[in-house]
Amino acid sequence: MVKTETLRGATRVLGITLALVTSGVLSGCSWTNDGAVSGDWIGYGRDEGEQRFSPLAEIDVDNVRRLGLAWSLDLPGENALEATPLAIDGILYFSGTFGAVYAVDAVGGKALWKYDPQANQVSPRGARKVFGAHRGVAYWDNKVYVATKDGRMIALDARTGKPIWTSQFLVPGDLSASSGAPRVFDGKIIIGNSGAELGARGYVTTLDARTGKILWRFYTVPGNPATDTDETTRLAAKTWSGDWWRYGGGGTPWNAITYDAEFNQILVGTGNGSPWNPRFRCYGKEGESKDNLFLASVVALDAKTGKYKWHFQYNPCESWDYKATMDITLADLKIGGKPRKVMMQAPTNGFFYVIDRSNGKLISAQKIGKVNWADRIDLKTGRPVERAGIRYQDGPVTMYPSGLGSHNWQSMSYNPVTGLVYIPYMQLGMKVSASPTAEADVAPNPNKVLFRLGTDFEIVTDPKDPLDGTGSLLAWDPVAQKLKWRVDHPFLWNGGTMTTAGNLVFQGTSTGQLYAFDAANGRQVWSFDAKLGIIAPPITYRAKGKQYVSILVGYGASADGAIVGMKRGWKYGLQPRRLLTFALDGKAKLPETAPPDFSVNAMDDSKIVVDPRQAQAGMMLYHRVCGACHGSLAIAAGEAPDLRESGVPFDRKAFAQFLHQAPLLEHGMGRFDDLSDAEIGQLYHYIRWEARNYRDGKALDSASK
Ligand code: CA
Repeated sequence: MVKTETLRGATRVLGITLALVTSGVLSGCSWTNDGAVSGDWIGYGRDEGEQRFSPLAEIDVDNVRRLGLAWSLDLPGENALEATPLAIDGILYFSGTFGAVYAVDAVGGKALWKYDPQANQVSPRGARKVFGAHRGVAYWDNKVYVATKDGRMIALDARTGKPIWTSQFLVPGDLSASSGAPRVFDGKIIIGNSGAELGARGYVTTLDARTGKILWRFYTVPGNPATDTDETTRLAAKTWSGDWWRYGGGGTPWNAITYDAEFNQILVGTGNGSPWNPRFRCYGKEGESKDNLFLASVVALDAKTGKYKWHFQYNPCESWDYKATMDITLADLKIGGKPRKVMMQAPTNGFFYVIDRSNGKLISAQKIGKVNWADRIDLKTGRPVERAGIRYQDGPVTMYPSGLGSHNWQSMSYNPVTGLVYIPYMQLGMKVSASPTAEADVAPNPNKVLFRLGTDFEIVTDPKDPLDGTGSLLAWDPVAQKLKWRVDHPFLWNGGTMTTAGNLVFQGTSTGQLYAFDAANGRQVWSFDAKLGIIAPPITYRAKGKQYVSILVGYGASADGAIVGMKRGWKYGLQPRRLLTFALDGKAKLPETAPPDFSVNAMDDSKIVVDPRQAQAGMMLYHRVCGACHGSLAIAAGEAPDLRESGVPFDRKAFAQFLHQAPLLEHGMGRFDDLSDAEIGQLYHYIRWEARNYRDGKALDSASK
């Protein structure tokens, strides 16, 4: 268990920002690019089924040792890079930290254009939502589509980067934001929303790709049955209790949206409940637990009308930040001798599911790693066989996996040749309990942007289990539902995977290595030191007759400080962010990069009197408004500056002015004019307390001093 000398109750908040890290969609085309023929990477998951499998085999398991850097492009001003680049007709399109869009020559690496939607400037408070997460763009018919975090879908001319149309897809004034890559299908474009922790209600919105006109919207959770008449409210309100709509409900579908052309349906993966504490939304009059549809579920919608077709819920009465927003992959598998049309998903809850996509019936589900919240999934009902007391009704519960998941948004891939799914796995536990101040924590207030959980979390690692706090690449057999091979990485929060017909699987890690493995047996066959941690997934494409591999390099792990292991020495503003592209016999040299730096130049002045009571209040507030970017316990790891080193919260007056005026909006530092002077004082005392703590050798990361 993570132990630290802290203010009373500090461990209560240690984990709360972790699960918020994740706060991301394509393909399909009446436009005529067939990626399989052209060698392009045409959408988020490459093909409509989102397999992230490329049929290209010029680079293969035998010659991959000749793979070298073909070119690199520095991306000044960028920070955390999560996007899947698209490769279309010799041009790469991708998004940066705050949703700026780039077009780059795929062969030579020359930047062609950049479009900045200025999302933070447009929405200064919204800058605080979804942090630096942006997972990419979509392409259709000479247009590039970007969904901005403040809720605009912008169609750009692919040749020039000039906007063609802009359409507001988030409901104006709601508490949600956007971090996802749009997906294109049948001349339409679809996008979800994010922000369950802020009190949002989830929905997907479908627009006409030509005009931006909204065609349909589907809510993932019900609204107020007294006033809302949408389909979900009519279908699902009876599975909720209390006044859940006052709190948003959650279920935000921020990443997984897969178009299933064979059944003319859209499969949407939904998020966790809001607030996290289920007592505000789950329990009926007799205390019976209600399911809260469609939280932590996959919902199939008719692609033409957006009407409900079927659903499968992974976690009834979701209570732990468990979500089904991990990529949904389509495949044809032979199971029990019969061909089956399936969808596969590894949601955060630690199981791998194979589901019949013609009707949503569960085929199989198995644990992929350390899981103790449920014994198994009942194959008849599809429901988990849960451990008693798991909703912390009777007190704190220690459980695996944590809300961060055994798998998060980092993409998995499926290789139809090996028949294996490649999953970026993490092992971490958490201790969870109801917050003693839950009622006040979750109180709705549209004028305040802060986390509303009603639940306290603490990240847990068992010192006796060497795999706790680490990550692995799992090769999973989806038919047999068992592990084929695994490669263990020293740390968690690694990048997504991509696999090819060259019998290869690629993955980048938080330590900055880009690896290629033999897809059949996991033997490492190639690696490259990118000199900065990687969280984005690799892609491969063909241009001018040659195969390339590309990846964005830009580590930024929100709330890293909650796990010292996430601090890898990638310091804010120190190591350049880049797009790297590789080819056989590539001979380019990576420009100089600052080495990892674990130092903290904490500012302190013995004349400052730190008030412990204010610091205590400040700690709680910090973890609801600052921690997701600046790190739990003020330990930052590259996502944003380490506040203990910053001159801004060193001066009480300058700090207040800075928070209210937001001079660094373009760098992602949002406006905090909803904080009172008293609250800013509390934050000041807390940050001063943590800086002194570090200098006194009492901080969680002091050991690395
Ligand atoms: Ca969440």
